[in-house]
Amino acid sequence: MFFGAKDGWIKPETMNVEKRWFVNVILPLPLPDLFTYEVPEEMREGVSPGVRVVVQFGKQKVYSALVYECHHQAPQQYSVKEVLAVLDELPVVTHQQFKLWKWMSEYYQCAMGEVMLAALPSALRLESESKITRNPSFNHDTSTLTDHEYVVYEALEFKEELTLKEVSKILSLKYVLPVVRSLVNKNVLLVHEEVEERYKPRFVDLISLNEVDFPEDVLGDLMNKLEKKAPKQSDLILTFLHLSKELDAKSISKVLLIKKSGSNTTALNALLKKGVLLSEKKQEDRIQAYTGKLIPPLVLNPFQEQALLDTEMAFENGKVGLLHGVTSSGKTELYIHLIKKKLDEGKQVLYLLPEIALTTQLITRLQKHFGDRLLVYHSRFNEQERVEVWNKLLADNLTSESSSYMVIGARSSVFLPMEKLGLTIVDEEHDQSYKQVDPAPRYNARDAAIVMAAHQDASILLGTATPSMESYFNALSGKFDLITLDRRHAELEMPLVSIVNMKDARNRKQVSGNFSHALLDELKLILKEKQQAILFQNRRGFAPYLECNVCSWTPLCTNCDVSLTYHKFKNEIRCHYCGYVQAPPQKCLQCGDQDIRMKGFGTERIVEDLQLILPDANIARLDYDTTRSKSGYHQIITSFEEGKIDILVGTQMITKGLDFDRVQLVGVLNADSILHYPEFRAHERGFQLLSQVSGRAGRRMHGKVLIQAYHVDSPVLAYVLKHDFKGFYMHELAERHRFFYPPYCRLIEIRLKHRDEKKADQLSKELTTELKKMFSNRVLGPTIPYVNRVRNFYLRQLIIKLEKTISVNEVKKSLQSALEEFKKRPENRQLIIQVDVDPL
Ligand code: ADP
Ligand code: ZN
Ligand code: ZN
Repeated sequence: MFFGAKDGWIKPETMNVEKRWFVNVILPLPLPDLFTYEVPEEMREGVSPGVRVVVQFGKQKVYSALVYECHHQAPQQYSVKEVLAVLDELPVVTHQQFKLWKWMSEYYQCAMGEVMLAALPSALRLESESKITRNPSFNHDTSTLTDHEYVVYEALEFKEELTLKEVSKILSLKYVLPVVRSLVNKNVLLVHEEVEERYKPRFVDLISLNEVDFPEDVLGDLMNKLEKKAPKQSDLILTFLHLSKELDAKSISKVLLIKKSGSNTTALNALLKKGVLLSEKKQEDRIQAYTGKLIPPLVLNPFQEQALLDTEMAFENGKVGLLHGVTSSGKTELYIHLIKKKLDEGKQVLYLLPEIALTTQLITRLQKHFGDRLLVYHSRFNEQERVEVWNKLLADNLTSESSSYMVIGARSSVFLPMEKLGLTIVDEEHDQSYKQVDPAPRYNARDAAIVMAAHQDASILLGTATPSMESYFNALSGKFDLITLDRRHAELEMPLVSIVNMKDARNRKQVSGNFSHALLDELKLILKEKQQAILFQNRRGFAPYLECNVCSWTPLCTNCDVSLTYHKFKNEIRCHYCGYVQAPPQKCLQCGDQDIRMKGFGTERIVEDLQLILPDANIARLDYDTTRSKSGYHQIITSFEEGKIDILVGTQMITKGLDFDRVQLVGVLNADSILHYPEFRAHERGFQLLSQVSGRAGRRMHGKVLIQAYHVDSPVLAYVLKHDFKGFYMHELAERHRFFYPPYCRLIEIRLKHRDEKKADQLSKELTTELKKMFSNRVLGPTIPYVNRVRNFYLRQLIIKLEKTISVNEVKKSLQSALEEFKKRPENRQLIIQVDVDPL
């Protein structure tokens, strides 16, 4: 029973000063419970939910934890420890964030500590090695110190800073905290510095003119003198005046000033000494300010106008909007209109995108409309930049200014502190990268965004050209409001899609390597007409591997149950599951023959083969390997935009959100590898992927799409050909109904990992039996997954299928306690159990 509001958010001023104060804190650990600490009287003032405190946990470990709630209830089960220090003056985590965390930990069955680890940028989490220093305001009266205390005090004479571990050594004492604590109470030590923050703001030197002592005429005289005696100094002043006028700024960065003036630090220092110029250190934003001109949203076409009205109607009715708009129909333009409106109302906007769709192209497009109101939250950003976005939003939450921030970011942006959220957009809502697979919380950012919007009464719009089965189902059943845009902007036609029957083509000898002659003819035409083409190769099915031509032996990973992928550029074979690398074998390890050949084909191979056939073409590839560096992606996209590349070969990466004017042809090299994959979502993914990649063609003119396939009778291909999402949906829905899969049911997947294969088998069977007692035939399995061993752990999985009428919360509760029981058995200690709610 806690004091205050149900969700724990109480104002410290409502706490009773007569009673003992306690806080429940979240520790950055996967612990099922919150932990209670007592707040010593002198720290009460700073304590409130959302601030970080330093606490001891376990025998010697010190952590920074987050205060979740305050109350007066002493814990019964254990003797309570005290909070060692309070780290923040103001909360770094908001009430709304805690609400989302709580939901997440319950819905996805994980610990609050795990959510905290995912949510807080690591620069806001703190070093656990605690440090103590002398308090400079201590009056050096050591007469009140005990022997132990004096030793510690003395030790700090020789070393400015000590960790608790070191103190422990010096005193030969296991528990030193009481000593440290007492020293703090006596004002001898400082603890607020004991945990060091990793976030360090960046500083710049700003130079300004001392206008008080050097008004215009005085400065003029001085310049005349300097011109002869010290030309470098007069150059500096002149440059300063120029820059100051040009940039309309009273102060100029030191680096820029020296660079532009061609002068040096000595000259600058001389002027600083004379007091002509002044220098000051200022904290610099790492986020680049936008300086260009702002433009208003474009005028919408009548279809977009109608969609905008429909969307606003959905919002008014408090419904989630699902915008089903074909590629290039102007979904982004619609978003811009909606965002503008919300920002003008003083509300914040969150714009979610799959990580790899978060391109410079889109950021630049949005910056033109929103300038420095736009914040970007990116996994490619470093920690400092992430903390800056976080802090800007915290500050924004406290102001009532009429223009707020919008954030564009990938999955983890749902964790940002936005208390004035007015609108969330989830673009490409069908994308599976919204789901975090590992580690916990195994959340889907789209679904979390819906919950977050509901918590804050904010509007939310999901947008896509290829809705997920779940979302479209929700729209047709009235849970969401469906908004449609079925025309491309400016009467542009949908691209012409055709299928190349590869079996046929091979029989008629119309194939060179992996390319049908039909595709090659189209590519030659593109080159002739100076247009551009994109070739899509799915990495998943057909990564290149080595195989002995005599006995079919294939090199496998030593830790995982998969073949190693061949990388020609580095001449090595690598495991895509665990990163294991080795040199390619010179001969077969099974029969000893040296005839080892490369099988399958990846993007690297495609580029090489194609270059031989089209020697004059500029061909580049866009995939995980070529974009690993921060600038790699940007460079390739820019060269393609500038027309330096004719043909771009890529993986999934090229299917997302790219917008190129001159791409007239899209080729899919092997559709079979996408469609024939052993999982129930294979067709849904295949349809999405093929439609999305087709959508890259002809965004300014009528484009063509060629899909090469061996199994041309797949129903999915027929729907892709006709751009018929609805037809595909109905077809697939019938299948899902027949086999009882989502959206007709909910899934919970339980993954078991064990180093011993027999144990993995035995325990997964035992667990299945246990769970069947509770959930009967809703439990399926155990099955051995497609890849059955990863990093030397054997994997088994169970699926629980729940009909939609059943209370999921009840099920989750019983499931959680059953799993905890099961894990507690001593013989099961080596077993790892992972729960994945709504697996993808
Ligand atoms: P989507 O997000 O649906 O793929 P976009 O919003 O990117 O579509 O629009 C496709 C192209 O058409 C973009 O280049 C965009 O600037 C242009 N466009 C869309 N709507 C308009 C409009 N109302 N006026 C002018 N250009 C538009
Ligand atoms: Zn062999
Ligand atoms: Zn491996």
